[in-house]
Amino acid sequence: MAEKETSGLQVLLSTLQSSSDRESILNILQVLTELLSVGTDRRIHYMISKGGSEALLQTLVDSAQTASPDYNILLPLLRLLVKVGQRDKKFGQKALELEALDVTLILARKNLSHNQNLIHCLWTLQVFASRVSTAAMLGINGAMELLFKVITPYSRKRTRIIRAATEVLAVLLKSKSNSRRAVNRGYLNGLLRLHQDWQNHDTSNDFIQIRRSLLICLKHITNIQSGREAFLGAQGMEILFATMQNYLGNQSMDAIISIVIQILRKCYPKSSLPLATANSYYSFSVPGGIASGLACTINEDDFEEEGEDEEDKDSDSAEMKEEDDDLETDLKNLTSKPVLNWTEEELKQYEAMCLELTHNFQELESKSGDEMSSKEELGIHQCTYFCHIPTQTLSSKTYCQEKDQSPQGLETRDTNLQESPLKQLQIMRSTVDLTYEEQVPGKISPYLSSNDQEEDFSSREVSKTQASFKEPPWCGEVCFCQNKNSFLSSSIRIDETSETVSTFLKRHPMDIPFHNPYTYIAKAEGTNSVPGFKVLAFPDVWGHHSPPFPQTMLERKCGIQRTKIFEDVQRFLQPDKVIGRVVFSLDEPWLLQNNDTTECLKFFSGFESGNLRKAIQVREFEYDLLINADVNCAQHQQWFYFKVSSMKASRPYRFNVINCEKVNSQFNYGMQPTMYSVKEALQGRPHWVRVGYDICYYKNHYRQNSAAGTPGKCHYTLTFSVTFPHNEDVCYLAYHYPYTYTAMMAHLDLLEKNVNHKKVYFQHQVLCQTLGGNPCPLVTITAMPESNSSDHLQQLRQRPYQVIVARVHPGESNSSWVMKGTLEFLVSSDPIAGLLRESFIFKIIPMLNPDGVINGNHRCSLRGEDLNRQWLSPSAQHQPTIYHTKGLLHYLNNIGRTPVVFCDFHGHSQKKNVFFYGCSIKETLWQAGCTVDTSIVTEDVDYMTLPKILDKVSPAFAINSCSFLVEKSRASTARVVVWREIGVLRSYTMESTYCGCNQGPYKGLQLGTHELEEMGATFCLGLLLLQLKSLTCSSQFMAQASALLDAREDILGHQLHRSSSGGSIDMELDDEPPCMEEIDYSTDYSSDQETDIYELDQQIQEIALVETVGDGEDKNGVDYRTLSSPELYVSKHWTSKHGASP
Ligand SMILES: [Zn+2]
Repeated sequence: MAEKETSGLQVLLSTLQSSSDRESILNILQVLTELLSVGTDRRIHYMISKGGSEALLQTLVDSAQTASPDYNILLPLLRLLVKVGQRDKKFGQKALELEALDVTLILARKNLSHNQNLIHCLWTLQVFASRVSTAAMLGINGAMELLFKVITPYSRKRTRIIRAATEVLAVLLKSKSNSRRAVNRGYLNGLLRLHQDWQNHDTSNDFIQIRRSLLICLKHITNIQSGREAFLGAQGMEILFATMQNYLGNQSMDAIISIVIQILRKCYPKSSLPLATANSYYSFSVPGGIASGLACTINEDDFEEEGEDEEDKDSDSAEMKEEDDDLETDLKNLTSKPVLNWTEEELKQYEAMCLELTHNFQELESKSGDEMSSKEELGIHQCTYFCHIPTQTLSSKTYCQEKDQSPQGLETRDTNLQESPLKQLQIMRSTVDLTYEEQVPGKISPYLSSNDQEEDFSSREVSKTQASFKEPPWCGEVCFCQNKNSFLSSSIRIDETSETVSTFLKRHPMDIPFHNPYTYIAKAEGTNSVPGFKVLAFPDVWGHHSPPFPQTMLERKCGIQRTKIFEDVQRFLQPDKVIGRVVFSLDEPWLLQNNDTTECLKFFSGFESGNLRKAIQVREFEYDLLINADVNCAQHQQWFYFKVSSMKASRPYRFNVINCEKVNSQFNYGMQPTMYSVKEALQGRPHWVRVGYDICYYKNHYRQNSAAGTPGKCHYTLTFSVTFPHNEDVCYLAYHYPYTYTAMMAHLDLLEKNVNHKKVYFQHQVLCQTLGGNPCPLVTITAMPESNSSDHLQQLRQRPYQVIVARVHPGESNSSWVMKGTLEFLVSSDPIAGLLRESFIFKIIPMLNPDGVINGNHRCSLRGEDLNRQWLSPSAQHQPTIYHTKGLLHYLNNIGRTPVVFCDFHGHSQKKNVFFYGCSIKETLWQAGCTVDTSIVTEDVDYMTLPKILDKVSPAFAINSCSFLVEKSRASTARVVVWREIGVLRSYTMESTYCGCNQGPYKGLQLGTHELEEMGATFCLGLLLLQLKSLTCSSQFMAQASALLDAREDILGHQLHRSSSGGSIDMELDDEPPCMEEIDYSTDYSSDQETDIYELDQQIQEIALVETVGDGEDKNGVDYRTLSSPELYVSKHWTSKHGASP
């Protein structure tokens, strides 16, 4: 806007400031009012930029300071001030400088009994106070006393005034010095009394705004320590609890309830967790000592106050933290490859891990065809054709049929899929919906058949087995080891266990693909745990398969969080109603013995991956649970796996895991924990199923004290209710589908025994021993050469490498299920798997952190370290699995065999879908807004190809969730180090959700083990398609692959065309959909929505334009109607030209 044209407004403003002529001032105010009453806020901002605020403030000071102020001028002036001031960020400061604060306060005092004048002053004060330092100044000058005089005692005579005054007070109390003043003068008691009065008398909810403002006042005062103390002393918890108890379910009261909840949570006295120490119950001596310091002592009640800032700071002065701070923008770090610091000799040891490159396959000649076929007769190959590319086969029935590996079997299977997969999906959906309906609290889960006949059968079965299954050695506490520090290579009483298993298997024939209880028991003997576990969990031994249908995500019930929080507050207010009985505790094992006499659940977790530390019965059907910290650590509680028994059927039990650590969780967005019922398993339904309702995840009142590592660290509660299907059952509850180290070892064993060794080269080696003395397996899979002729050997040795690793984070059991799918697919008789084996050599390390998995850790190794932050300089002593994986990669790189793809399988707790993290220089620089000339950076965009392929072939994969940014904080992760140091362009982390999908065919569903395994299989298909797209792809391979894929088009078709035809991909992938209620992750959540600009505008308008009928209050001579008859002072030229949009 050119300067010349702006002169109209400036002339107007300067005339206003300099004029002492009443008529001119009135006219100008009238014109300004007219101008600003139409159009958008931009007009007001324009006026602010031209000194409008200063001009109005100056006029106010001049007009108010006369002996008898002229309210005909002052009232329209104040209204203009409010309108402009709300939109001027520096208004408070300007008012302070021009001494308008005092003037307004004095004006208010003079008009205490003059409602119309007073309300104008109050609005103006409210706008002044929006700047915290100005609010503090107003407090010093006695504004709070004035306001208290106006709002107390309770009266319904001047509600408009009271509303305005409480709103000013609420804004003033944002200043901590004002809050302190309020506490010192005892205003908190007054506010509580007012709250009670309004709450009790306003039965028809006419004055919600006043009640809300009073609560906001309390909310601000309780931001300071002395405020919280005064609040507790004045029985604030009791008062708010009592007044709000009956409103919880009332949605129209949301505005009030949410503030009450915030106050109650904030003032709930902080305490330490009911644990003797935050340190893990287990400790283990490791070479070089533990990495992170342990918490040694605990001083009771030594809590640091959270975020107590005693200075009044301006909210607008706080610098916004740079969002992309973490991005690596140093081109040198992005592009340069560090010098290899491994000697040739060190690398040479990995030659032994690549036997395929040196082996001469002499045995190929000696191995007779007879031998092979006799093996086949024994049915050893029965499972090889099992896991397939995008199956969409969602019934376990099909699952079992697929074991036929004959060509006919293949055909049968294909016919199964002749039906349009989309149609199949629809069928599945409707079925899922039906079963979901039944899954309401109080009812038995849908997987329990309601068929009468079967029920009879099952109950008979149970009673028959009851006696023996009550305490089989592998699900009871009989072998519990109490010596916590012993590191026994404990022997499970295999004979006995095997016998029991045999008996059970005879009664309940089990047939779970690639699972064998005997193999599991045998392998468990070699598993070394820190506690010396001697007991095996039933589901791990017995095995399980997916329930027939994937389960929908749980719909969040409205108000569930506040209901749970109220119940928590009730514990504080009515401690006599809390049972508070410790029913399980690793720290106090003697408590276990007294359990039989009391009516309560029994808990146990002394088995592999189990990690319950303590259980406290708080109400008859409610338990607080505490998870053990990672070994040699004082943190990382999130994963849980434990056994529960002695339950009553069809009763809702509430469980609260009270020492979780992550700030948010998918449990707030549809995810359910998993449960396995032994009775169900023995009745032929060995499923881990998603269970639980009334689930939510929120910050609780437990804090870590300053002696224990991170002072003031917060804890979070995961609460869920479960209705168990049977009386006196034995059930297992877990964060996610468990997958133990022993399960992996047994699985590898079965794979090795079952693969067709004529075709599959399957080498199971030991990469290294872990700190806990467990072998970390390395698996090599490729195709056997046709013969040991040099041509065939040559072909094998030239195959490119693919390296896949998983489970560096022990709590991410989903990554193991994906890995299971990958392994089973790669050794299968599926022709695509055959082609993959002929094309590549797969190096697979299925579990990078065996010790963590075994001991029930969530994140770390036995040294208390996150192993995925150790890739920059791992040591053979301290991080052997990482060291040797990196060594192997260096070796491959060194012999010119850099892997095509490196992928590290993980699980993600806060996002949906399956997705990649990769590395791109250009995307990183671009995202960081870097000025570096990116044209000098050459980057192969092929890092995008595999994710694009997976987006099409994997139902759970979502390219929109992928990120290819290189963060500084991730500089020591596998993905970044392998990309930068080894030079693998396609180096990825593959994250699988714990929850489910919000896009694609699985939209709205939680992932089960079947879907995770399918992801693992389709990942392999992705590698094949990637090869097809690459330049090195031979014409022979191309022809073979194309023929194969064409033949499978019916299976793949819908997947490949998913994104083009479906259009179902949602863009909101990062952000969760809004919940029915505000989820308070933290208690110090403060919303700036407290004062709504338009609300105040509206109040002004009501008063200004609608005459003074409102409360039947005052008449001061101003004829408001005149305001609506415009008499323009300035020329039309000005309005038309400048009124538009400056
Ligand atoms: Zn992870």
